[in-house]
Amino acid sequence: MIVKPGIYLLGLLIAFAAHGENFTADKVKRAQQIIEQAIDAHGGQAALDALQTIVVEHETHGHAVNQSLKPDKPWDKNYTKGISAIDVSNKLFVTRNKGYSGGFEFDTATIINGEQSFTIDYRTNTAQPVKEPDFDTSSGPFARVTPALLVKLIKQRAHTALYLGDVQHNGKAHSVVSFSMAVGPSISLYFDQETSLLTHSERFLDRAGLVEYEFLDYDMIDGVAFNKRFELYVNGDLDMQRENQSISVNKTFANLTAIDPTLTKTDPIGPDEMRLAELSAGIYHIGGNGTYGMFIDMGDHVVAIGGTGGAEQRIKLLRGAVGDKPIRFAVMTHHHSDHIMAAKVFAKEGATLIAAEQHKRVVKQALDGMDTKIRTVAAHETMKSKQHTLQLIDIGPTAHSEHILVAWLPKQGILFSADHFNVPRTGPIRPAVQSTRTFAQALKRVKLKPTVLVSAHSPMTGTMKDLQQALDANVMSSKPEVNISSAARRYQF
Ligand SMILES: [Zn+2]
Repeated sequence: MIVKPGIYLLGLLIAFAAHGENFTADKVKRAQQIIEQAIDAHGGQAALDALQTIVVEHETHGHAVNQSLKPDKPWDKNYTKGISAIDVSNKLFVTRNKGYSGGFEFDTATIINGEQSFTIDYRTNTAQPVKEPDFDTSSGPFARVTPALLVKLIKQRAHTALYLGDVQHNGKAHSVVSFSMAVGPSISLYFDQETSLLTHSERFLDRAGLVEYEFLDYDMIDGVAFNKRFELYVNGDLDMQRENQSISVNKTFANLTAIDPTLTKTDPIGPDEMRLAELSAGIYHIGGNGTYGMFIDMGDHVVAIGGTGGAEQRIKLLRGAVGDKPIRFAVMTHHHSDHIMAAKVFAKEGATLIAAEQHKRVVKQALDGMDTKIRTVAAHETMKSKQHTLQLIDIGPTAHSEHILVAWLPKQGILFSADHFNVPRTGPIRPAVQSTRTFAQALKRVKLKPTVLVSAHSPMTGTMKDLQQALDANVMSSKPEVNISSAARRYQF
């Protein structure tokens, strides 16, 4: 049976009236009043009901928090120029992004359109079918930065809404209402008591922590309130600022869902299951779900390379190959937040962590108070056993990190590196990004000529020929609908 929120609420309010004061009933009732006022302030029920499509062209300046060249503030800037388009009743969603971040140029689109759903990479001119397109999950991030959609949503989900209280925010009195989303944790919305406009939202996520948005500079477009800017804060730090340069409402956008016939269609990508590959005797590349590590059996102990998440599962597979030999050392390639996630896991194994000198503080922080030795590498270090010679070399600076450790096995010609080059699981070798180009230069500078390139983000290994192919590849297109000339000037690409 489907209970309409209105009927449900009516029942609740009758119950409330019948039974007198009750803490929860009072919070529910107050939430309804605030939601009704917000609906009016954002354009009224009729205008919000009529709101079917929104197309936003935006420009975003991001701050690479814990993902910059250096491990400290000020964080590097990144830049995205893009389009987001949503058709609420037909469940269409398009997001188009072109820009530069952490040594990576990107030019992509995601189209969610039932059976015709694709992720497109315009640098390789490929379109990959989306296996199980999910409108709610894909459009969720856009809905969460679009107050008109959030207000529509809170009305639809009013049966889950609770008034949390009044707070001062940016010097103004606000009423705060929370409600539960279809996907992810509940969200708290701050409504300005004077204007009833949504000015702030908050969610607390398990891994990321506190995620907050500030909605700024409202304007009425076709009778609906839209913010011209927003700011995103993660755990109190400014993470991105977006400017909505144009917003159009209730217009179709067939141009954005059309699949360019010149795109090469690739196979849909299947799940990336955990696996172990023995690259050479006693040298293992283990991982899945986009994160991989290398493990070297030194005879009486193991050296682990790479600190991405998923280390527990990698170690489980490793045990099947090497038994219970201790992991005595674990190398953190660099300081980025996604590459020190395994620090605690390896510390629990009793390993000494190895990192570039400049990254010691960040690695220590990642240990969260756990007591483990951290050894630092200044430029390079050689670890030897009867079985293997392993060199750790700081090949930085690159366009991705000022210092970055690679693991080099000269006898086997095997090189493990993170975040600079990989052969993708499907589709062609991608044209080199700035990070790849500076990686190739760094290999020349330190006179390394590997035969096997092993990656922290792909199960595939590559060769120097593959790397050269990436360097030689032409970037395919520059679609006219996103003009990034201003970004190009800023970042010289
Ligand atoms: Zn990185």
